[in-house]
Amino acid sequence: MKVGLYPGSFDPITYGHIDIVKRALKIFDKLYILVSVNPHKTNLFSKDERIEMIKRALEGCMDKIEIETSNDLTVKHAKALGATHIVRGLRALTDFEYEFQMTHANRVLDRSVDSIFFMTDNKYSFLSSTSIKEIARFDGDLSTFAPPFIVEKLRNKFNY
Ligand code: ADP
Repeated sequence: MKVGLYPGSFDPITYGHIDIVKRALKIFDKLYILVSVNPHKTNLFSKDERIEMIKRALEGCMDKIEIETSNDLTVKHAKALGATHIVRGLRALTDFEYEFQMTHANRVLDRSVDSIFFMTDNKYSFLSSTSIKEIARFDGDLSTFAPPFIVEKLRNKFNY
């Protein structure tokens, strides 16, 4: 059984993340989604809210997905969960430099865990959780960026 691990903050999950999950599920039999819980990072949504949103957004494929949380090194989780690969998404060129550094750091930490990258659909290549929060703050149209129930949750956060 091929097992992958997709780490991220998912604050909140967007169509970009969903696109990467769907691509990864064509290769992996099981995908762990690792939701980062970093006490030094301020998230808009709590850990539980982020997990709930992931479950709902991916309800059609939850039989192949398990959600875990982490405040530790991703490679350690991958090893412990039996994942051979860390799944990451690539958007525009700017992701490359960061992912390049992370992949090499992870390799130094544990050579047995490799990384695999999927390029998102072109229409999501400039989409990030950060940008949708900015748009939501000013009540912009988010319908092409995230599922309607997430747009609604964002609107509630910003009191629209
Ligand atoms: P972000 O706040 O940038 O969305 P995350 O930590 O939630 O960040 O991202 C987790 C992973 O998902 C990273 O590999 C990131 O590159 C990828 N990702 C996020 N948004 C997209 C997107 N629109 N298309 C492809 N990959 C994405």
